[in-house]
Amino acid sequence: MSEQPMICSLCKCPLEVKRVDFEYVGHMFFADAPRCPVCGQVYLSEELVKGRVAEVEMQLEDK
Ligand SMILES: [Zn+2]
Repeated sequence: MSEQPMICSLCKCPLEVKRVDFEYVGHMFFADAPRCPVCGQVYLSEELVKGRVAEVEMQLEDK
């Protein structure tokens, strides 16, 4: 996979990778995701979300 810089579709600004919080089925998650420094739009890929959710679900089941 090539690491191409992502650009905000609204601002045409390069995205910064930052830790972002998001909620999924009542649980809060965080992940490193590209975020636009200008408008704050976060570009979470479905793959990334599924990966984090699977991790957290496993942790929940371990309890
Ligand atoms: Zn933007």
